[in-house]
Amino acid sequence: MKTKDCLLPAIGLLSLSCTKQPEQPNILYVFPDQFRGSAMAFWNSPDFDGTQRWQADPVVTPCLDAFAREALVLNRAVSTCPLSSPYRGMFLTGMYPERNGIISNCMAERPENTLNPNATCISDVLSEAGYECAYIGKLHAEVPMKNDPANPGYYVSDRRPEWDAYTPAERRHGFGYWYSYGTFDEHSNPHYWDTEGVRHDPHEFSVAHETRKAIEFLHKRDKKRPFFLCVAFNPPHSPYEDPSTDCLPEDYAHYKDQPLSALYIRENADTSLAKAPYIRQYFSNVTSVDRHFGMLLEELRRLGLEKNTIVVFTSDHGETMCSQGTEDPKNSIWTESFNVPFLLRYPEKIRPRVDSVLLASVDIMPTLLSLSGHEIPSSVEGRDLSSIFVSGEGERPEAALYLRNVNGAADPDGLYRHFFPVARGLKTARYTFELALNRDYTLREVKLYDDLDDPYQLHNLDYREHRDLFDNLCGLLARKLSESADVWDREHILDKIKEQI
Ligand code: CA
Repeated sequence: MKTKDCLLPAIGLLSLSCTKQPEQPNILYVFPDQFRGSAMAFWNSPDFDGTQRWQADPVVTPCLDAFAREALVLNRAVSTCPLSSPYRGMFLTGMYPERNGIISNCMAERPENTLNPNATCISDVLSEAGYECAYIGKLHAEVPMKNDPANPGYYVSDRRPEWDAYTPAERRHGFGYWYSYGTFDEHSNPHYWDTEGVRHDPHEFSVAHETRKAIEFLHKRDKKRPFFLCVAFNPPHSPYEDPSTDCLPEDYAHYKDQPLSALYIRENADTSLAKAPYIRQYFSNVTSVDRHFGMLLEELRRLGLEKNTIVVFTSDHGETMCSQGTEDPKNSIWTESFNVPFLLRYPEKIRPRVDSVLLASVDIMPTLLSLSGHEIPSSVEGRDLSSIFVSGEGERPEAALYLRNVNGAADPDGLYRHFFPVARGLKTARYTFELALNRDYTLREVKLYDDLDDPYQLHNLDYREHRDLFDNLCGLLARKLSESADVWDREHILDKIKEQI
């Protein structure tokens, strides 16, 4: 077919089939779970002066500090629906939860809440384009099914409700190399199912183990093909109980003797919460992720892959860690939960710098596809921000949307088949804004923060005293909800709220 095309005079066909195509870049996408945007020390260095209004956490992150100087660093990247599964659905498909199928965290009691098997994922596009696609670590994008490869007809564990899941080959969306699990939080006792569905229980700290598997993949992969490698570490995800199993001693050593007053530098933290001491384990695992990310970068360098590999470091959402007095580490619009790291290094195309573009989770897939020279599927709802990444030029999103959904009523079997869209909001260059509902669709709460004057979000502005600002933000939210074909737009929920105030 190629030879025949080359004989045709059509220029388009000639350029497609006969000219040497530029080498397709590899993509390494590393995303630990619950790694908040402030947990990187470089924000406090003079090179990054003025790029954040808050202070960096007192963490040891030498590898990220060095990487940030080689990368495009986004200081306003957010996780649209800051939970594990919805983030993964949006990252993989470039579609909002209502279209990709993952509206909340995946678990057996939400039987329809799972990645749509027919959705086109970034890995589908790249594998079609000849990439070797590999997934290592936590997936949490599949509803648990009774499909344990070792015990057909049973869930993968006897925990009830079941959260963990096995993803069979036909639901792996082009990932030909597989070493993954659904969700499981014992950092020193992880398990994985490999490409053939064989379970492994390595009894090794998960970050160290997954790094070894990723390096092994880099060596054993098909060198004739570009690769797309996702490494989804679970740490620094909670829960935390025992430092001897929650983290590695060499990382814990940085924090174990520090008083809490030295670790809690955010003005909005309530250190009287029971979880307060766990910040030592949290930061320890931040340092562990940093150290192992450094090992992956070093291996790329040794293998001569540094130049032609797009490397992304990000997270699925943040961690409140006692900020705002909430026990919930995520699923809120507070900066600590909503803001995520997003660092991208691509030496051949992208100049290291900080950019304030409001990157949303659905924008990642189209932007990465465009940067690596691939067509964006028509199903994608996110925006291709590659021209901003490359040149700083291009139309910038006015705001990044925020979504929060909770269970609807249970059916007679105790299963949740519907969701209640409890809150919608957005972040602009200056403001954080959220409207939350009661179950009867009356307005429960307005959050309105000036992130410029109040970076720790200590003063919720009274919307009745800032009516023009409130109306402007409602207008912007209405446009974002319409653009994203959200249930709030279809059900005219904003209009109903406005009638009440
Ligand atoms: Ca998560």
